[in-house]
Amino acid sequence: MQQSADVVIIGGGVMGCSMLYNLAKLGVTNSVLVEQDVLGSGSTGRSQAICRMHYSNPVTASMAWESLKYFSNFGEMVGGTSGFVKTGYLVIVEDVDRPGLEKNIAMQQELGINTAVVDAAQVRELAPMVEIDESEALAWEPESGYADPYQLTTSYANRAKDMGARIELRNPAVGIEVSGGRVQAVLTVEGRRETNVAVVASGPWSRQVMAKVGIDLPLSAVRHQVATLTRPLDLIPDHPIVGDIAQSFSFRPDGSNMTFIGFGEEDVEVDSYNEGVDMPEVTEALGKLARRMPAMADSYFRGGWSGLFTVTPDWHPILDRVPGIEGLYCAVGFSGHGFKLSPMIGVTMAELITQGSASSIDINPLRFSRFEEGDLLTSSYRYRVLA
Ligand SMILES: Cc1cc2nc3c(=O)[nH]c(=O)nc-3n(C[C@H](O)[C@H](O)[C@H](O)COP(=O)(O)OP(=O)(O)OC[C@H]3O[C@@H](n4cnc5c(N)ncnc54)[C@H](O)[C@@H]3O)c2cc1C
Repeated sequence: MQQSADVVIIGGGVMGCSMLYNLAKLGVTNSVLVEQDVLGSGSTGRSQAICRMHYSNPVTASMAWESLKYFSNFGEMVGGTSGFVKTGYLVIVEDVDRPGLEKNIAMQQELGINTAVVDAAQVRELAPMVEIDESEALAWEPESGYADPYQLTTSYANRAKDMGARIELRNPAVGIEVSGGRVQAVLTVEGRRETNVAVVASGPWSRQVMAKVGIDLPLSAVRHQVATLTRPLDLIPDHPIVGDIAQSFSFRPDGSNMTFIGFGEEDVEVDSYNEGVDMPEVTEALGKLARRMPAMADSYFRGGWSGLFTVTPDWHPILDRVPGIEGLYCAVGFSGHGFKLSPMIGVTMAELITQGSASSIDINPLRFSRFEEGDLLTSSYRYRVLA
């Protein structure tokens, strides 16, 4: 079956669906999203979906802050639900990283983000269940929380479809036809989709998709594990999200009685990694959790999963046109922090595609050429994920 569209998006994760919606909102309704499996079946469905603003760079901090407005008011701003639950977010770093934390908070406050450096006494008031070492440096974001990746993704998809966009599930893209230096079509197992604009949003598979047009994207796959626990509710009825950078892991509540913990960064192959959890690492993470919330030593392990971070050399995304091929765009390389940015990724990419540049937020720091220019984004910390 041959069809034509103004834009074809390759990948139905949260990014593809957010872009499909935002393009439709800007009037591009004759668009198609092709997905090799079902919506959210890549990294999105495995996300911890933590929405926080603590970054070292204004571009990502602003994107997270502007996106939080969507997460908190999704019904009014888009329609449907993001599943957002406000919990507050506590950042914990070692004393050696205090200058980095203070620098970040000053930058974020300048952007208008609701965040502050706090001390151990304040944390005892805000989150009495969390144990803090007096030497640790701390910051608190009262408005942060977590959302539901599947609800957010399908809500964007449904609103886009309401406006006329099409979604083709179980229809992998197998090629991108280029001639005369510009995109002519996206080739799928179900036929040719004629278009002059193709957007690669294929998560961990983006490197393979881009290789079909001879572009070698600097992307690799990193496995991250999530373990789920039932909480002793009488001892810990609830708790905020904690980015425990000092111990290299994070945890958040889920629903009424669960706690999720995220840990591990292991280089793997995209199509052959262990999608379950490794018990020795779960045990190690449980030990870290029990150090922060001692009553969790009695929590009950309910299982878990692993997913893939798609990582660039500076652990930040590439949002840009692809140089040398007119009409080809990419929104890739979100590592472990794309979900929280996804509303503004959709907004800015739709602006780039329809207007030639992003007007809501300057995404130039995330340009394609920064790696060969040696102008990588840097971090105030020694850690990668927070960068
Ligand atoms: C375990 C884990 C925890 C995370 N926790 C957080 C967090 O707390 N907060 C946060 O902000 N971020 C988090 N992230 C990161 C976040 O989930 C990702 O950055 C985000 O989901 C990436 O979305 P995406 O749409 O780019 O990719 P994906 O969700 O991977 O979507 C890509 C889609 O493309 C499809 N596809 C691939 N190849 C083709 C093809 N040839 N044709 C058609 N379709 C194709 C795939 O099937 C897939 O559905 C986490 C990630 C993981 C793995």
